[in-house]
Amino acid sequence: MSLASTSPKSASQPRRISILGSTGSIGCSTLDLVERNPDAFTVEVLTANRSVARLAMQAKQFGARLAVVADDSAYADLKDALSGSGIEVAAGAAAVAEAASRSTDWVMSAIVGAAGLQPTLSAIRQGTVVGLANKETLVCAGSLMTAEVRRCGAQLLPVDSEHNAIFQVLDLEQPQSVDRLILTASGGPFRTFSRAQMAAVTPAQAVAHPNWSMGAKISVDSATMMNKGLELIEAHFLFDMPEPRIDILVHPESVIHSMVSYVDGSVLAQLGQPDMRTPIAYALAWPERMATPVERLDLAAIGRLTFQAPDAELFPALRLARAALGAGGTAPITLNAANEEAVAAFLAGRLGFLEIPEIVERTLEAHPSVALNSLDEVTEADTLARRTALGLLARHA
Ligand code: NAD
Ligand code: MG
Repeated sequence: MSLASTSPKSASQPRRISILGSTGSIGCSTLDLVERNPDAFTVEVLTANRSVARLAMQAKQFGARLAVVADDSAYADLKDALSGSGIEVAAGAAAVAEAASRSTDWVMSAIVGAAGLQPTLSAIRQGTVVGLANKETLVCAGSLMTAEVRRCGAQLLPVDSEHNAIFQVLDLEQPQSVDRLILTASGGPFRTFSRAQMAAVTPAQAVAHPNWSMGAKISVDSATMMNKGLELIEAHFLFDMPEPRIDILVHPESVIHSMVSYVDGSVLAQLGQPDMRTPIAYALAWPERMATPVERLDLAAIGRLTFQAPDAELFPALRLARAALGAGGTAPITLNAANEEAVAAFLAGRLGFLEIPEIVERTLEAHPSVALNSLDEVTEADTLARRTALGLLARHA
């Protein structure tokens, strides 16, 4: 078990927090909760890729000490936007990682994609509490990250709603009593589509998730169900659970966020509205709880919850993710890198929806898994896989 269970410092003092990826969907939801609890938090660091206007506005509103853009070319604009504010400004990927290492009580890791890896590692190395939304970190470097969490005395709190649900109902004291983890999945917007219908879907259709409001990349991942594949790998590393003992269950209403099944036949679930502010609040206030404006669950009004097994034919991403996790080593990095490139090509209108898992599968075939011993090897495997995926995409265009 890689999740620690010691208490953070006294809850009576405001918690000093940093948000990596503050301009995104998770970042904005986190700040929404901070705004509603002004006495409970102070903001140290906010980072973004290149959304200067939004980042500057957030930094001023929350009185951040430091605002960082990953994209160097956005530095001058950010400096202009914050001139006279007294807020420190920096730019570049290394500056984001450095910002993540600034001393705080709590860090939200909410950068999208493998770009979140190094900053998340910097946060872990502070030995602080890290709310982890960036699932790609565990997908690409699960064993290395959990080893660093233990070595540095950090605490990883899962923010991904499924993993947060499991964290809430998992008996950390008796790991041997756990039989299986059951990850629920909405099935995405194309759950009832035929293959022919899927072949014609557009980026606009794919990013319109039926239940959750999220960033573009994860929305496409939900539509292909690669999101659930990545979450399977994330769950394996977070909860130290072998792949065959993690089930995926389609539950279109997104009310049960995941479940833990125990050896005595009990199944414990966490339920709630599909609103990320609940798992974010759980991580923000942990080990206590905080109030949120999230709509209360009215089960009588909902009336019925339904479940079905995922369709393995229509959603090959699940098979690819299980195979990558089974192969271990660099295979999950290859899976993730190829998927990021394929999704970017799909969003840019250069690739069909059904071809996303095809690019991933062909990239995996081209890179047999090798053992992983360092973060440099993660970066190397990521670069090689992207090169192959981009080559396949170029031939495709
Ligand atoms: P998003 O696209 O809305 O926001 C991403 C954030 O990362 C933005 O602040 C952006 O500026 C920043 N960013 C993008 N590229 C970057 C780069 N190269 N370097 C530094 N910063 C960069 O994404 P999101 O939906 O908020 O998702 C963030 C993470 O949380 C993802 O890993 C996603 O899988 C995970 N997650 C999201 C949700 C959700 O509901 N949105 C749920 C579970 C998990
Ligand atoms: Mg999720």
